[in-house]
Amino acid sequence: MLVLHDPDCLLHSTVEFIGAAAIPAHESPERLKSILATLEPSPLHDVHHLSYTNLPSSAKKALLTTITANHDTGYLQHLETVFSDWRDHDLVPADGSILPECWRFPTSIANYNVNPQPPRDIYARAGFYAFDMSSGIMKDTWASTIASANLAYQGVQTLFPPKYPTPVLQDETTAGPAPPPLNTLLTLCRPPGHHCDGARAGGYCYINNVAVAISTYRTTQQHPDTRVAVLDLDFHHGNGTQELYYADPSVLYVSIHGQDEFPYYTGAESEVGIGAGEGFNVNLPLPVDASVDAYLDKLALAVQRIREYKPAFVVVSLGFDTYETDPIGKFRIATEDYEGIARRAREALARDGVGECKSLVVLEGGYVVEKLGVNLLSWLKGWESPAEQET
Ligand SMILES: [Zn+2]
Repeated sequence: MLVLHDPDCLLHSTVEFIGAAAIPAHESPERLKSILATLEPSPLHDVHHLSYTNLPSSAKKALLTTITANHDTGYLQHLETVFSDWRDHDLVPADGSILPECWRFPTSIANYNVNPQPPRDIYARAGFYAFDMSSGIMKDTWASTIASANLAYQGVQTLFPPKYPTPVLQDETTAGPAPPPLNTLLTLCRPPGHHCDGARAGGYCYINNVAVAISTYRTTQQHPDTRVAVLDLDFHHGNGTQELYYADPSVLYVSIHGQDEFPYYTGAESEVGIGAGEGFNVNLPLPVDASVDAYLDKLALAVQRIREYKPAFVVVSLGFDTYETDPIGKFRIATEDYEGIARRAREALARDGVGECKSLVVLEGGYVVEKLGVNLLSWLKGWESPAEQET
């Protein structure tokens, strides 16, 4: 499989609060290093190195325009500049991380949800643009975040190249003939994205990479309402992705996740969408420690719902914190189980009579560092050996 990676995604390294202590965040550069150490030697996969930093300014501007389709410009500005602002005021050491002090909270103020303005106080803004304390911002957070978003952006452009006159894989390793048409592409996005709602960081997420992919797809197809399905297989509910498309019937969001787990306030089956989006949000929670058989039962429901929807494009939010010993997730899923899970998941792409639609796989969580590479290899093995489709 073609896999996209940007070395800048390794730069971000922050802290989080678990219990009463600040510790190095579970979402660490070592996660990506483990995956690369396993994938790069594999003859079955082609890990392609991109560089957001080396993109021409026109390409950077086009990416930012795409991101702002569903991310607040003030929020993006905050992500890019807050660390240097704090440094200018001598508020954080050069190797430190910024964590929020105070979040917005419900009040009786009539305009609470109408054009909320960021507070003037420099400390308070860190809380205004976050919903928890697991998304610290250090000196390289923006560099990794924008590189991660660029992988989703470039991934979709690579999957749907005819609309684009210029080559999308622009680094020095891409000289040569154009690659053959692709069905699926994997982007090693880090930081992950599915907890970000476009205006607040949280759950290790700063920009919603799935939303970037969908916006890019809509641009490539020049049909804003072309239907897209999101299959979220991270252990945690993708509250950010749900929020962004909750009223949008042109995006079907389907998630299998731990019941009553982070982010705690979303993920119930009763959350089905609103307005025109009602019926296009499907939450399939499972108890912690659920068996792989129980998981596959939920996955069958997810696949059935996506096939009924008949999307033109599927985005998979792929997390491995479903693994049996994950420190912040876990179902009873072993390395070898991911092969069968992926094979079943791929059935979501089947379009009766017309083969499969294309898909982008976007990396989300997974925190057993030493197992991430082999778990991903197992998943890719299943994905690339699909079951016979019924006729
Ligand atoms: Zn997760």
